[in-house]
Parts: sequence; C-alpha cells; structure tokens
Amino acid sequence: MFSIINPFDSTFLSEHQYITDSEVENTLKISKKSFDIWGFTPVNERLNFIKNLVFALTKKQHLLAKQCSLEMGKPITQALAEVKKCQILCEYYLNHAEKFLEKRQIEANGSESYVTYEPLGVILGVMPWNFPYWQVFRFAIPTIIAGNTVVVKHASNIAGCAILIEELFREAGFPDGIYTNLLISGSQVKAVIENPIVKAVSLTGSEKAGASVASIAANKIKKAVLELGGSNGLIVCEDADIDKTVEIAVNARFQNAGQSCIAAKRFFVHSSLFDAFIEKFTKAVSKLKAGNPLNEDTYVGPLARTDLAEDVEKQVNKSVEMGAKIVLGGKRTEAFYEPTILVNVTTDMPVFNEEVFGPAVPVLSFNTFEEAVELSNKSDFGLGVSVFTADVEALKEKINLFQEGAVFINAMVKSDPALPFGGVKRSGYGRELAEDGIKEFVNVKTVYIG
Ligand code: NAP
Repeated sequence: MFSIINPFDSTFLSEHQYITDSEVENTLKISKKSFDIWGFTPVNERLNFIKNLVFALTKKQHLLAKQCSLEMGKPITQALAEVKKCQILCEYYLNHAEKFLEKRQIEANGSESYVTYEPLGVILGVMPWNFPYWQVFRFAIPTIIAGNTVVVKHASNIAGCAILIEELFREAGFPDGIYTNLLISGSQVKAVIENPIVKAVSLTGSEKAGASVASIAANKIKKAVLELGGSNGLIVCEDADIDKTVEIAVNARFQNAGQSCIAAKRFFVHSSLFDAFIEKFTKAVSKLKAGNPLNEDTYVGPLARTDLAEDVEKQVNKSVEMGAKIVLGGKRTEAFYEPTILVNVTTDMPVFNEEVFGPAVPVLSFNTFEEAVELSNKSDFGLGVSVFTADVEALKEKINLFQEGAVFINAMVKSDPALPFGGVKRSGYGRELAEDGIKEFVNVKTVYIG
C-alpha cells in the first residue's frame, strides 16, 4: 500500500496497492490476446479509435489537468496545455500515420522488392511523473497505431493520472488490452520485461532506471528505447536579441518548476552581454508568481515531492560552498524551491556537472563561440541545446559541433509531434515522435521477389 500526498499542502490524496505478480501475468495475457486481433486490424480502423480518444481527452481536459496539479504540483494552466498537446499529437498521427506505415517499394536486383512495417506485439512503457500525460501519449499513441498493444508502468506518485489515462482509452471504445495501466513497483518491472509476452520496452526517466531496464532487456535480446536525463545548454551569442532571449530563457528554465528533461539547465552568455543579461533575467525571474498550482495565475508550483526539492537544495548549497554566488533565490520551504540564479560557477560544481531537476540555473560567461560549444558539450548528457544569435546562416554551418539530439536556434528546446525527439550520450537512445517514433516498435520486413 502507498499513499499519494499533495506536494503543495502535504494533504493526503489517495492510497493504492500494487498489483500482484499473478495479476500482472493475467494482464499480459489479455494484452497478448488483444494484439492477436489489433495487430491485423487495418491502420485506418485503428485510427477511428484515436479519433474517439481525442474526443474523450477534450471532454475531460479540466479533470485531467486538475489531477496533475494535485498529484505533482504542476500549475493548472501548464497542466491544461500539456493535455492539449496530447490532442495535437493524436491529430498529427491521424493525419500522417497511414502514410508512415505504408509499404515502401525499394529497387533491388529482383523483379520487385519492398518493406512492410509490422507490429512487434506487447510493448512495455515505463514512464515518469513530470509530464504525466504527454510522456505516456508520445510513447503509446504511435506504438498502438503501429498495431502493438501497450502496458504502462507509470510513476507511483501520479497513480491517479495513470488511472485516468486508462479510463480515456476505455471511454474511446478501445478493446480491452490495447492500453493497460500496470500498477506495479519499480522492482516488479524486471519480471515484466523478462516475460516472453513482452517484446520491447520504452523507458522515460532517470539514468539509473534506464540502465537497469536496458540491461534486463538486452539480456533477453529485446529492444529498448531510452529517453533519459538532460542538462541542456542555452547559449547567448554576442549578436543575440537580449530581450527576446531573456523572455524565452525564463520559460526554458522555469516552466514546470524546472522539472523537464529538455529544460535549459546551463546558461552561457557572451561576456559583452553578461551583466545586462543577468540584470534583465533576474528582473524577469523575480516577477514569476509562485503559489497554489490550482490558481490560474501561478507560474511556479512546488516540486513534485519534498525529497526532490531537497535534492536541488543540496546541489545549490554544495555549489555555493565551492564558490558559486546566488543572485536570486536559494531557499526551500517544504516542496517549494525558489527560482534561483547562480553566477561564479565552475564546471566541477554540481549545478554544472549534474542534472538539476528543479528551478535553479547557473549562468557562465564565454568569449568565443568555440568556448561556448566546449562548455555546452562538457556534459554527460546530450538531449539538446538552444543558441540565440542574429546570424542564423553562420550557425547552420556549425550544427555538427554540438553533441546533441537537437539544436534549436532562437527558440527553446521543445518536443513537437512532427519532429523526432531523443538524445545521445547518457540522455539515451532511440527516437520518439514523427515518422522515426512510429517506426521504433515495428518489424521492418523485407519482401523480395526474384
Ligand atoms: P525515475 O525515478 O527513473 O522514474 C521513472 C519511472 O521509472 C517511474 O515509473 C519509476 O517508478 C520507474 N523506475 C524507477 N526505478 C526503476 C527501476 N530500477 N527499474 C524499473 N523502473 C524503475 O525518474 P523520475 O524521477 O520519475 O523522472 C525524472 C528523470 O526523468 C530525469 O532524469 C529527467 O530528465 C528524465 N526525463 C527524461 C525525459 C526524456 O524525454 N529524455 C523526459 C522526462 C523525464 P516509480 O515511480 O514507482 O519509482
């Protein structure tokens, strides 16, 4: 039995019980039985269910958003935006999936050859709490449209959101077993991956969980997609529009109280702009309204759990002991951590060389573009980088210098259904979204006619 506590006011929300291993086995059998029909259902028929799902999402958007605010503290306007993004994702695949999954003719030596994209079977998703709906949708929707069925182990602290997602699929009329919420603990995941019914796994979460899941999958020769942590750089070049950059930089770091894998977590500002940037950025951040996530004017809510706020506090305090200086913030009250800006930061400090999963940001200065690239690449992670400059054409020639899954110019790194999403280095491997994402869990079958 475990309880879910509201991180804003520490009130009790609900109590849940993980299902037993024999219940897990039954669930997997149902999912497999559904796959035997779903996997052979034409794509256009599968899409009819997705249309119903969009309808169910729209109808329940406020309920979904509120549950997310209560369970993990996301400000209600940001929670609602997350639900809307799930609708956009569904609509994107409604418009493109049939084309993506069409058989592809290829010229070879025989009289005809082509590839077909066939589903693999039951796929396990292991998902995090920071975007309770978006993370699940971006894994499950393309995977299901491709003909697979999914079982989802969601993060324990948002069990209520997880239950609501399963209800949406039921309301949309999906047959039993196409989407199943698997209320299990992290320690039960190993047996699920090892179960012969499960064909592959996708994990979004920490490096530690990712390494464990991937090694278990590898041992059984099953595919894994890993979307892990990030410590994105945000580079402000000498010729950048500073006001526009500050506006975007505030969202890039402090949205969702900084709890985003693709948040800009290390800022690099050209030395000629450094003082002006710090002044404008500090002014903008100090205006962010913190408070009850259910209030529409709240921009910064609590972190999802008090222990997560304590982790950020430790990273900042240790960096200060090592010589960093706090320009703004730096204090914690229960699960709340003040939006925090640090200067005098060196690359050996935790706020630089660890992922800071909360509202604190180190700002460093650089003199040459090469120096900025070196600082940005000086990370174990490689999810993305944002670069602000007036000379976009010159920057386009230097994209290959960045060891990242994505380079965003004059914009914050964000996920978009139309663009492949994923990382390199310790940020993981594989891609979600777009055409690449829908083809992660398919058998690319070659057909050759002599
Ligand atoms: P987490 O602790 O790794 O949890 C993620 C999921 O994995 C949860 O469902 C969790 O279950 C489960 N889990 C934990 N340990 C496990 C294990 N040993 N074996 C199997 N499953 C395990 O991560 P988090 O704290 O929820 O999320 C924050 C991290 O996710 C950050 O590093 C962030 O950057 C990363 N993230 C990456 C992306 C991306 O797209 N690259 C997106 C969002 C977040 P329980 O809740 O039951 O422990």
